[in-house]
Amino acid sequence: MSEEKDRLIRGTAMDGKVRAFAVRTTQLVEELRRRHDTYPTATAAMGRTLTAAAMMGSMMKGKEQLTIQVRGDGPIGQIVAVANAGGEVRGYVHNPHVHLPSNSLGKLDVAGVVGTSGFIHVIKDLGLKEPYRGSVPIVSGELGEDFTYYFAVSEQTPSAVGLGVLVDADSSVNVAGGFIIQLLPGLSDAEISAIEQAVGQLPSVTSMLDQGLSLEEMLKRIVPDVHVLDEMEIKFACTCSRERVEKTLISLGESELEQLIEEEETTEVVCDFCREPYVFTRAELKELLEQAKSK
Ligand code: ZN
Repeated sequence: MSEEKDRLIRGTAMDGKVRAFAVRTTQLVEELRRRHDTYPTATAAMGRTLTAAAMMGSMMKGKEQLTIQVRGDGPIGQIVAVANAGGEVRGYVHNPHVHLPSNSLGKLDVAGVVGTSGFIHVIKDLGLKEPYRGSVPIVSGELGEDFTYYFAVSEQTPSAVGLGVLVDADSSVNVAGGFIIQLLPGLSDAEISAIEQAVGQLPSVTSMLDQGLSLEEMLKRIVPDVHVLDEMEIKFACTCSRERVEKTLISLGESELEQLIEEEETTEVVCDFCREPYVFTRAELKELLEQAKSK
């Protein structure tokens, strides 16, 4: 795996009528693979979702946050990815220990672990009272096509989405990344078919990154006149803390806490997103119980 930092670039093409995003998420996906101990097919499914989240997070502003829930009928169960406008991404899968034989194309069978029916939910916390929610049915389970469908149906923005994760023989992540090309109003039929043709002939994201193509070069394969506007670092970051876990424990209520104090010498709470363990002794739980009582 290369030590290169994960980056995301944003650009425009065709006189501003195309928005383009490309991202390298190798370090991010490897970090989460290690934390959650995902098996290769699960790593690919989680990694593709994290990669989409990184790019969709970059479409947000300020403190806005985006959550993707992939809920298919496959053995991986739910996949969750959360990203913000600052390039911070986290996530988890329900069953990390799922792996399937390669599919007929010799690739990791992502649709096999995700499932081919179910829903993708996108929740945008815009700092308003109610978050924005968009949902679409899963159409392929390979996820790239599913996010393409999400943008077309839920956001009314025709898009091409490419997502890829290449896993090494030792199960670590070799390379991961993706792109999103969004077609805005005003494109001619000829321009649209040129983009469609380019996307149709495009090698996979992982083979382009593996060959050493830069993110900009990858976008140029689709829209040759792409102009990069900005770039940002993408990294894993979790928002958990001991204080937050304490609040969660207090919110369990008095009887639940009393039961834990009675039954357990120590209580361990593990963060879903980063697997960081938070350990509480009986005495510490008793303090939290006092706080729960005074509420
Ligand atoms: Zn955490």
